Amino acid sequence: MPDLLSVDDALARILKDFARLPAESVPLLDAHQRVLVDDLIAEHDLPSFANSSMDGYAVRAADLIHATQEAPTHLRVTMDIPAGVAPQGTLQAGEAARIMTGAALPEGADTVVPVEDTDATWQVGEAITLPGDVGIRTATTQGANVRLPGENIRKGATVLSAGTRIRAAGVGVLAGLGQAQVSVVRRPRVAIVSTGDELLAVDQPLETGKIRDTNSYTLAALVTEIGAEPVRIPAARDDLDDIRRRFREALAAKPDVILSSAGVSVGAVDLVRKVLDEMGHVDLWRINIRPGKPLAYGKLGGVPFFGLPGNPVSAMVTFDVFVRPALLKLLAIPDAIPTIQAVTGEDIASDGRQSYIRVTLRRVNGRPTAYATGTQSSGALLSMVLADGLLIIPEGVMVARQGESFAVRVLRVLMV
Ligand code: AMP
Ligand code: MG
Repeated sequence: MPDLLSVDDALARILKDFARLPAESVPLLDAHQRVLVDDLIAEHDLPSFANSSMDGYAVRAADLIHATQEAPTHLRVTMDIPAGVAPQGTLQAGEAARIMTGAALPEGADTVVPVEDTDATWQVGEAITLPGDVGIRTATTQGANVRLPGENIRKGATVLSAGTRIRAAGVGVLAGLGQAQVSVVRRPRVAIVSTGDELLAVDQPLETGKIRDTNSYTLAALVTEIGAEPVRIPAARDDLDDIRRRFREALAAKPDVILSSAGVSVGAVDLVRKVLDEMGHVDLWRINIRPGKPLAYGKLGGVPFFGLPGNPVSAMVTFDVFVRPALLKLLAIPDAIPTIQAVTGEDIASDGRQSYIRVTLRRVNGRPTAYATGTQSSGALLSMVLADGLLIIPEGVMVARQGESFAVRVLRVLMV
């Protein structure tokens, strides 16, 4: 099939049109999962002050060199330092301060002795009278149970580099460093238009000849999973004027990408390409992929446009293969498509196109092994629900033989 573009060539041509979107400043929690635009440099040490990692007594280690279980060393308790309070005063030789976990170490102290190594009997939260007395039952190493300033993060250090995707721990570090607003890559807005006279809205009763529109929902969910923002436009009928109207509505949403489904093959009512020619242009549309050959890519009113196939599985697979990498490029997220090698558990037929076979994965004799999920009809959306992954049979291969090894695009995390 010399007039068909390979999947890799088509993707390479499409990706040339995409580059990282500009930055926007968002409240800290909205930065979760998004890509940091500037290096995060620590403006102060973390922790910013020496503090205790135990409930116990802040002491001078030198006072305790003779302390033993049998002959405790007695110190005069002159301060009580709960967490969140700045110590008043300096610890002198022979003195101790009761101190709670996270509380600032007083001047003069260098070590904390846990309450378990003393004769104290208080419970956390219980008041004590000052001055008091504590018997310490063990010698200690200077610096024990003290968290030093900068132990976690040093002032001036690059804590997160530009381009990092912010995970939960990153959100915490940003909070610790006082970053209430964070500069991240803007989310792409993706307008989604289904087309077809047979489509019903999800809340309409079924009629013979009609089906409910599933594509605009699966596509919106896929867009959301990636971290982009879907804008669902009402479905267009198989009518040039209606398609024009819905495409204008899509453009009015100021999208970064437009997705349509159905209406791109050479059938009599496949009108999307016609409207695309009027309101923009088609860059490519014949790709050697199964499922999903009728796929058009081009520009609509200057906006990158994917005319995805109508069949629900084809729409999802072509989204995964072409749209997902494009959106990730806008988001500046490296496209680490989770792929594993698996052997086929049975012969699986192909037709020479690069084929994406819905498979379940099981560990057999220690190796991840792929089995087709029953029907591979591109209309059978349930096969995508059942699938653990998409086994990729390369262009030109007519059958994947049992026991041969193939790449599988993993769709959900599993322990195979
Ligand atoms: P078409 O590309 O218009 O030839 O459509 C191919 C198949 O996909 C047909 O069986 C359509 O009914 C089905 N289809 C088209 N659009 C949708 C949609 N939005 N949701 C579910 N199925 C669809
Ligand atoms: Mg149709």
